[in-house]
Amino acid sequence: MSLGTSMNIRILLVALIFIFLGGTVKLMGFILFSSKAVLVDGITCVAAFLSGLIVIITTRAALKPPDVDHHYGHWRIAYGGPLGILIIYSASLGVALASMGFPEPYSVDVRATYSAILGTLLYSIAILIARLDPIGGSTLAVFGWSEVLEGLVSAIAAYAGASYSYIIDYSGGILILGYLLVAILRESRDLIFKISDVAVEGIEERIREELESRKLKIISLRVRMLVPGRYAGDATVVAPCNLSLEAANIIVDEITDFLKRNNIDLTVHIDKDPKCS
Ligand SMILES: [Zn+2]
Repeated sequence: MSLGTSMNIRILLVALIFIFLGGTVKLMGFILFSSKAVLVDGITCVAAFLSGLIVIITTRAALKPPDVDHHYGHWRIAYGGPLGILIIYSASLGVALASMGFPEPYSVDVRATYSAILGTLLYSIAILIARLDPIGGSTLAVFGWSEVLEGLVSAIAAYAGASYSYIIDYSGGILILGYLLVAILRESRDLIFKISDVAVEGIEERIREELESRKLKIISLRVRMLVPGRYAGDATVVAPCNLSLEAANIIVDEITDFLKRNNIDLTVHIDKDPKCS
């Protein structure tokens, strides 16, 4: 996810409609043809649809310019996206687990396989549509191919479940649930890392180069990531002795303006060099 450029909402909404259709087709695979693997797969599809909506809403809100109550801009509202995904995925895990119930014998209709395949096809179309808008598409991390893999797992599990034993179908459901749990853990770790005021590699070096190329000596430099692609920080520098404070101020303004255009919001304090007389 990289914020700063607007996304094509219409493309993403069309993609989300295809995801919703895919989820509905899969849920029918459970209601009509009793496959629990396809049920769990369908629940994750519906979760992806809801997550997509939340990501679009929060990303749009994050693009608002700074105002009286958000002096640094609204960028971090975008974290409502991953937070929403975590809540939705956790709830889906609970719903899926509850509807799986204990592994009591049931019979799977082979047509559940077709539901899984059709649903997965619809989901694949959604991914391709989302890719038409590279920025929004990558913002919607939920548009992953892993959902397609889950679709294949549920299709195979339903087929084997209909041909051999319900246990295979049930195990397919458990496998997808396991993947969902892993995704929740991974997403949590990723979110905590991103909001931890992390100093992103490369950004500090870039600022350092910019300041040093203008003969400013760096006393301190701190940078933190607001959201991926957006940074804020502060620096204390010392200007060379032959430079007046006025001239140093002009240089610093040029640098901070340049950095601001590159999504880095840097505040610079100019110290007097005690060695200059
Ligand atoms: Zn505000």
